[in-house]
Amino acid sequence: MAYLALKNINKIYPNGFHAVHNFNLEVNKGEFIVFVGPSGCGKSTTLRMIAGLEEISSGDFEINGKRANELGPRQREIAMVFQSYALYPQMTVFDNIAFGLTLMGVDEDEIEERVNKTAKILGLTDYLDRLPRALSGGQRQRVAIGRAIIRKVGVFLMDEPLSNLDAKQRVTMRSEIAQIHRSTGATTIYVTHDQTEAMTLADRIVVMRDGYIQQTGTPKELYFNPVNVFVAGFIGEPPMNFVTGTVEKGHIYFGGNDIDLKCKPGARTAEKIAAMEGKKLIFGFRPEAVTLTPCQDAYVLKANVELTEMLGDNANVYLDADGVKTILKVTPHEIPESDRELTFYLPYSSAYFFDGETENVIETE
Ligand code: ATP
Repeated sequence: MAYLALKNINKIYPNGFHAVHNFNLEVNKGEFIVFVGPSGCGKSTTLRMIAGLEEISSGDFEINGKRANELGPRQREIAMVFQSYALYPQMTVFDNIAFGLTLMGVDEDEIEERVNKTAKILGLTDYLDRLPRALSGGQRQRVAIGRAIIRKVGVFLMDEPLSNLDAKQRVTMRSEIAQIHRSTGATTIYVTHDQTEAMTLADRIVVMRDGYIQQTGTPKELYFNPVNVFVAGFIGEPPMNFVTGTVEKGHIYFGGNDIDLKCKPGARTAEKIAAMEGKKLIFGFRPEAVTLTPCQDAYVLKANVELTEMLGDNANVYLDADGVKTILKVTPHEIPESDRELTFYLPYSSAYFFDGETENVIETE
């Protein structure tokens, strides 16, 4: 049985705004789930309904198979880490971490032992006497996490915990959060709009848009088998390239390139291709899926190099084929010259086709 279950959850705010639609998810014990999506898609609202901070308009929320809609935040055995660290400025790190236990009347020896253990996990042992203002942003966030994990609750909820940190701190804290999860084994639901955080931390990702779940799956499933253009474009950096064309005798054409739809393996029946005849189709490929050296079973494509960007371990190449813009990711040794035509190769198996109307992937199996 799932540890947490959200069944047909809806949220309609008092002003009538329908922020979350028919949200369904089962979370297993110990799983790290990430809700990801653009600003305003309903991630925080869903998290706050799980925390008991926001009323559930309809649907069932279950903990261990028992309906928990009516339980208050404390009864749910859930701890939440917010984007703003919400530390008490006049209290030391020790007292901030200990705060919840002190309120619960836990005896002093046990508090001391648990704070020390938590501080050790978080690398805060040397900072226990400091006030929050004498800490860096990353250290403050660790204190906020410490305050949550010391409570030994079943579930941690984190709402954009890294968004107040600079880029370097974010990378460090990201791996620390992964380590904390490994060492505590706690079930975690984490909200972010950053696909890299989602991909690196999650066991499973829930991609949301406009209050609806678009797809739930492991990072690999979302990367290799996106269900629609939105998920395909959201997961991966730089995002997947999309080219829209009208199907003509089983082909689409753009900027002098010819894509024969039959080439993609996976039992693309003649029927499916015939059904697309005369309709709009979106051809997609990831910037990192192409090679610059010829390979077998690949589309041979051409475009003009507009600009290149050396990033260190790789480089981005910006292309234009008669107004159709695409990006390739290459190694630093392969950076082509600008203002000339580049030939590149896309394995048939790395091509994606989406219905131009619905934007849903055209199944190839
Ligand atoms: P962000 O990444 O910006 O925090 P989010 O995905 O977490 O976005 P939510 O905060 O869950 O999004 O908001 C979802 C939608 O609900 C938004 O359109 C927001 O304006 C709306 N909303 C949030 N709180 C309320 C409220 N109290 N009353 C009415 N609408 C609200």
